Amino acid sequence: MALDAALRAGLAPDGGLYVPERIPRLDGLTLQPEAGLPATARQWLAPFFAGSPLSAELAAITREALDPDLPVTGLEPGWSWLLELFHGPTAAFKDFAARFLAACLGRLRSDGDPTQTVLVATSGDTGAAVAAAFHRRPGFRVVILYPDGKVSGRQAHQLGAFGDNVVAFRVRGDFDDCQRLVKRALNDDRLAGLALTSANSISIGRLLPQISYYAHSVTALHEQIDTPVNLIVPTGNLGNALAAIMARAMGLPIDEIVLATNANRTLPDFFSGQDYRGRPGLATLANAMDVGDPSNFERLAWLYRDADLRASSIRALSTDDDAIRSTIQRVWQDFKLAVCPHTACALDALDRLRRSGDRRPWLIAATAHAAKFDNVVEPIIRCRIEPPPALAELLQRASRAEPMAADYSSLRSRLAAL
Ligand SMILES: *Cc1c(COP(=O)(O)O)cnc(C)c1O
Repeated sequence: MALDAALRAGLAPDGGLYVPERIPRLDGLTLQPEAGLPATARQWLAPFFAGSPLSAELAAITREALDPDLPVTGLEPGWSWLLELFHGPTAAFKDFAARFLAACLGRLRSDGDPTQTVLVATSGDTGAAVAAAFHRRPGFRVVILYPDGKVSGRQAHQLGAFGDNVVAFRVRGDFDDCQRLVKRALNDDRLAGLALTSANSISIGRLLPQISYYAHSVTALHEQIDTPVNLIVPTGNLGNALAAIMARAMGLPIDEIVLATNANRTLPDFFSGQDYRGRPGLATLANAMDVGDPSNFERLAWLYRDADLRASSIRALSTDDDAIRSTIQRVWQDFKLAVCPHTACALDALDRLRRSGDRRPWLIAATAHAAKFDNVVEPIIRCRIEPPPALAELLQRASRAEPMAADYSSLRSRLAAL
């Protein structure tokens, strides 16, 4: 199957997630530290687009979607760096992938196709990124489900602030409930008329573009330090980290990958030797990672189907709310840097590694701007964080989300009424 069909469908008909037929190795590829992000993305993503009508459009898609700035800033001079993934329109890393998916799906439409409904469950940031990417895009409508009271005030405001072709529902439940509802709707033949598709990290179109920012930044760092880099990724549903793991499998010079989770310990428990056990998500300060049963684990298990996943230079470290707070405080004191609670999990993991004697070079994915989580960060650092311009603009608009029970019949009747 070519990529475009998997992009259109979102979720496979059997309820499973799409994966590439194989992971292309780019061993022969000359890494190009000077290439911009769109050019790097073209190189790394081209094999996945082989045989798809989008292949000829890949250059235009990468130029259109992968335009946010991508600074890599030094933290501990010469041996750790922050990969700032939060300079897109909604101030979280998900902007890159959401914009890429929208650019792909927009090009797959033909005149006369019915309006497509992009149905998205969000633990806080996905919904806004997807809404921003599809806002006012002809032929699309976005329906967002988010757990009421479990996202930051600014996240909630953002989710309801788009209007036009974007509808937000605040669900009385947690993120896992929202995700379950979305999966069920995507498999419901009775909703065929809505031309539903997913834009969650279960969509392969969200996963692939994330490979490109790792390829771009790691290539540049590798050129500078001439040894493989190690990477820490704040992790919830395992979408962002999986892209890094795939990039490594394709030949990107990354050694170890650390999955930094909040108090949701499903992955740390698994990597410390227990059986995989999905469980209900716990609410934490790093709410975009409040996931107890990461759906991309299925893809990770697939990637390592012939190898021992626990011996694959991946480890998972958990950070509880107290350590998130103290890390935000420490990083502010030591580096005059305000970090979001998700990025704080990664920086706590780095701190623990350093204290155990680790002296390797680390790149840390900084997944959101601290201003999105002003409610958490400002009281700790006792300083106001200026929102970036795009976020400030959204926060000035009126915002509206309708309440919804966490059961499928409620969702189906809302969708049917669209
Ligand atoms: C979504 C999100 C994460 C978790 O990413 P996954 O791909 O779900 O693992 C981490 N940090 C922030 C700020 C997020 O929005």
